Amino acid sequence: IEARSVHQIQSGQVITDLCSVAKELVENSLDAHATTIEVRFKDNGLDLIEVQDNGGGIAPDNYESVALKHYTSKLASYDDLSSLNTFGFRGEALSSLCALSDFQVVTAQAHQVPVATKLEFEVSGKLAKKQVCAGRKGTTASVGGIFKRLPVRRRELEKNIKREYGKVVNLLHAYACISTGVSFSARNTVGKTKNVTVFSTNGNRTTKENIANVYGAKTLSALIPLELELEFEPSHAMKRSGGEDVVNKIQVRGHISRPVFGEGRQTPDRQMFFVNTRPCALPQIAKAFNEVYKSFNVSQSPFIFADFQMDTNAYDVNVSPDKRTILLHDAGALIDSLKVSL
Ligand code: ADP
Ligand code: MG
Repeated sequence: IEARSVHQIQSGQVITDLCSVAKELVENSLDAHATTIEVRFKDNGLDLIEVQDNGGGIAPDNYESVALKHYTSKLASYDDLSSLNTFGFRGEALSSLCALSDFQVVTAQAHQVPVATKLEFEVSGKLAKKQVCAGRKGTTASVGGIFKRLPVRRRELEKNIKREYGKVVNLLHAYACISTGVSFSARNTVGKTKNVTVFSTNGNRTTKENIANVYGAKTLSALIPLELELEFEPSHAMKRSGGEDVVNKIQVRGHISRPVFGEGRQTPDRQMFFVNTRPCALPQIAKAFNEVYKSFNVSQSPFIFADFQMDTNAYDVNVSPDKRTILLHDAGALIDSLKVSL
């Protein structure tokens, strides 16, 4: 197979859908210490997904390499892999986006403002064009016509765009709610309805205020704080890698809807999970929460905003190329303990 086809296929494993586009771009903005992040959609993302931040920008020395496969500025040494505190570290997102879309970047570091640089790339990730323009501090990454070179996947996306757009907005809600100190907003343009604000937060200091911005102050009045300390025996696998005989300690922090027993009023059925502030899908944990609510005859499924704070050895984010699947080494024991605590 041609090298180019291999690149396409591998890229399609990193960027699987609209959610992975948004996730990769937003995580790059957070890694760049942005305090403002604006996401713009055109045609629900089919035409364009663009993320603008006011972060550190890309250093001119890196223009040639940023979108090359496996280029990352985030790993100082191989040892860093175990103590990672950035979202990115593989250098696969930008290179994959070049393969799968019309991708371009406008970036400026603080000392360059008001001069910014627009970068355009070849499908391979090689820098194709560099052009001076006006701009503010930070980076705008634009993804046009996602999957245009994978016709089957493009058609599939077009067919399911309403649902896919809904998923991407939910994911952005999660990033917006967990990111304290960041003003987060999203806008969408569909046809003549231009720049409709989807949601926005005000750079709040607490996740509670973020939730009020995203879901409305009314949601807040239905919530109570979620504060659990889970303790359980680690599994054998954990003991072996960790050495000594430790007890696993996990803190759960967040907000959960006040249980309304029997026939009650509706609270929003929104559920967001995080591991050490990284948004992730935790279906088994969601199931545990919902089962506990049900077992007490609570009429509706709860609003959940839950951050599981745990040792970085207790999980693995390297399970899939898109890093959305997280492997909790002690999921069974964690869930038993969670149910008891709840
Ligand atoms: P990774 O995040 O794993 O390092 P990416 O392919 O997502 O890899 O990005 C490649 C590099 O491009 C990053 O390491 C970073 O140096 C630079 N970069 C990407 N997006 C931004 C951004 N929004 N602000 C500043 N630098 C960025
Ligand atoms: Mg990245």
